[in-house]
Amino acid sequence: MSKDLKKFEHIIIGSGISGLCCALELTERSLELGERAEIAIISSSQLIPCSLRTTSSVALQGIQKGLSALGDLLFNSYKTFTKSYDFYQFKSIEKVKRLHFSYDENSKEKLKNRHGRIDSFNFNSKNYEGVCEDGYVISPEHFHLELIDLLKERGVTFIDDLVVGLDKNEKLITGKAGLYQYNKLVLASGAYTILLPVLKSKKDDLRRVKGSEVPGHYYEWDFQYPSSFILTIDGHNLCYRHFDKKLVLGGSTEKDRVSLLREDQLKKMYEGFGQYLDLPSIDQAKKLTGLRQKGVKRTPYIGEIETDIFALTSLYKNGFSVSFEGAKILADKILN
Ligand SMILES: Cc1cc2nc3c(=O)[nH]c(=O)nc-3n(C[C@H](O)[C@H](O)[C@H](O)COP(=O)(O)OP(=O)(O)OC[C@H]3O[C@@H](n4cnc5c(N)ncnc54)[C@H](O)[C@@H]3O)c2cc1C
Repeated sequence: MSKDLKKFEHIIIGSGISGLCCALELTERSLELGERAEIAIISSSQLIPCSLRTTSSVALQGIQKGLSALGDLLFNSYKTFTKSYDFYQFKSIEKVKRLHFSYDENSKEKLKNRHGRIDSFNFNSKNYEGVCEDGYVISPEHFHLELIDLLKERGVTFIDDLVVGLDKNEKLITGKAGLYQYNKLVLASGAYTILLPVLKSKKDDLRRVKGSEVPGHYYEWDFQYPSSFILTIDGHNLCYRHFDKKLVLGGSTEKDRVSLLREDQLKKMYEGFGQYLDLPSIDQAKKLTGLRQKGVKRTPYIGEIETDIFALTSLYKNGFSVSFEGAKILADKILN
């Protein structure tokens, strides 16, 4: 049976945070011109987005501008994220305090070096010394739906299909269920980019676009506390999201590609955070894994890989901030 051909100006492959942010930025630019963007997002419900299997918090974490290109990108991404939060007033993102604990003199010194200061703060009716910074916790499933609703209102078409073929000359995408034609294509396909039909761009660029998959593991509990928080020890986070009443601890990383929980690592973190808060039993936790995509030298890929084919990939641990900045950078290139 022949497939109907559906045509769109912009096709985005992927409905994780990067794909949704790209669509958000493209529709925003169209609205500014009083136009309606012709955008389709194709994603497969068989490939769960990492953006739904994540602990998803955002903070500046002592990153300063002017030290490295990656540092500058992360700094700008944080700023763009906070501006977008203020502009869109997302209901499923909460602004919180991120509290870094210093549990001995050595860790206090490390915190001081990174953040340039030591603060006193109160948590759970006790006083501590460490660093207190602004942060944001995101309820990923609700945020996903919030963005999809907004984009549907703006006329974006969502298609559930698995992309299996790409003809660059004809600008045709073959899905399991349909055939699609684009003028500009954006790959926002996360760790699954490796499964997409081979693109013959420069070898280095391809490596950067495809990155490598790194599973991240975490625990999740239903929990009750009066307000949201992020507690941090040694770079590991315990987040409470009051919005959906979930407590999440993670995520630990495997060196190989096996998706098993590093129980020992997570249990060590559990005991560490247990000093500051009565935690629910570890046996009651849901154990979850998300598939992150790590770029070469941890650097995201934001750019045009081949004529009219763009990518926002390899976001690794910073998907929720870099997506906002990356979508702006990419929109400038796409609409140029
Ligand atoms: C445990 C853990 C903790 C994390 N903590 C944080 C954090 O605190 N802060 C932060 O900013 N980031 C964090 N991250 C990272 C963040 O979750 C990711 O960077 C982000 O979700 C990646 O989003 P993405 O849109 O690039 O990819 P994904 O969300 O994986 O989306 C990829 C999309 O592409 C689609 N797709 C791919 N190939 C095809 C195909 N062939 N056909 C059709 N559809 C296709 C998939 O269906 C999916 O919709 C964490 C990740 C993990 C695992």
